[in-house]
Amino acid sequence: MEVFPWWTDEHKKLEKEMAAFVEEVMPRDEETRWRREFPWDIFEKLSKKGYPGAGIPKEYGGLGLGATGACIAAEALNRMPGVGRAFVGNMLGGLRQIIEYGSEEQKKRFLPRIATGEIGAIVITEPFVGTDAASIQTTARRQGDFYVLNGKKRFIVSAGVASRYMVYARTSNNPDEIRNYRHLTAFIVEKGFQGFTVEKINEIMGFENIQNGVLNFNEVAVPAGNRIGEEGEGWRVMTAGLNFERTMICAQTLGWTRELLRNVVPYAQRRVQFGKPTIDLVNNQFKIADLIIQVKIARMMTYYTAYLWDLGRDITLGSNMGKVFICEGAIRTALDAIQVMGG
Ligand SMILES: Cc1cc2nc3c(=O)[nH]c(=O)nc-3n(C[C@H](O)[C@H](O)[C@H](O)COP(=O)(O)OP(=O)(O)OC[C@H]3O[C@@H](n4cnc5c(N)ncnc54)[C@H](O)[C@@H]3O)c2cc1C
Repeated sequence: MEVFPWWTDEHKKLEKEMAAFVEEVMPRDEETRWRREFPWDIFEKLSKKGYPGAGIPKEYGGLGLGATGACIAAEALNRMPGVGRAFVGNMLGGLRQIIEYGSEEQKKRFLPRIATGEIGAIVITEPFVGTDAASIQTTARRQGDFYVLNGKKRFIVSAGVASRYMVYARTSNNPDEIRNYRHLTAFIVEKGFQGFTVEKINEIMGFENIQNGVLNFNEVAVPAGNRIGEEGEGWRVMTAGLNFERTMICAQTLGWTRELLRNVVPYAQRRVQFGKPTIDLVNNQFKIADLIIQVKIARMMTYYTAYLWDLGRDITLGSNMGKVFICEGAIRTALDAIQVMGG
């Protein structure tokens, strides 16, 4: 794939290595989708190579390749949608939040775990709270050295398979604090905490080998040492994570779109109708041209945003615009690809 002039030799090496890795494990990914099994063995392999640590600084056990490295990994792995989703979910489940808001002790405790492939999840959405995330109803009340969490979350990627859950809960109902977005607090809840259970796994298209489900918190005691940021800082922690998340989602969706291109062109070259390959039909050529344009622009947007992030610049606009453009384009070009392939 095209590399960008600002990539370092390490970025280029990672891109090459990951392309080969994905080729090697793709048949196994397909098998786990048919079998509806979580691809543990693929995660084990990719963890041994250190890919989950692409965006984690070296001093915390990562490869130290920044947002660019994390995007290279996400783009490559998202040729396998299930593996890619869990990988990106892992990046979202605490990585940025801990780097930006975690104490030194928390960085040392959690970042090496992420780098070595422990699976994490991001836990915001609730049955009655979606886009309006500031209205989170799950509560956390301080009790000595613990916070006690109660509530329900849904749509959570890697529910049950993850070991680490980046959870946002309400710690205040004070109208002033709500007005100033100081009513939420972020916590890392770990698998096995008493009262923390998976209620249900959803059947979602594209999630054949990855769990997505509903989580229950029933008087879950979370050590205060697992609070990320100060009490009341949850909204800031969440939004810090979300800008990084949107960049990762750009890379993820780019991976899916690239995979469309990889499938649709050879198919249309092979498929013969009206005495010629269907790629010779001009209506198909227009659709494939649109797909190539989409991939090209999506890659530029993703990696330019990641580059700015690595330079320490504000990427709020770039990551949000990128997510809209790349996701909407992915839907449009996927529908076109279906038509090119018959549909
Ligand atoms: C496949 C999948 C995976 C997911 N994974 C996770 C996960 O791992 N962790 C997690 O916490 N959540 C996850 N989610 C939840 C996701 O983030 C929510 O679906 C999202 O926040 C929207 O919430 P909602 O579905 O409840 O929609 P609602 O908020 O109930 O509805 C959204 C509606 O409001 C409209 N709307 C939204 N914003 C605006 C606006 N600014 N102006 C005007 N209209 C607006 C929309 O057009 C839409 O009609 C996942 C969802 C899906 C589908």
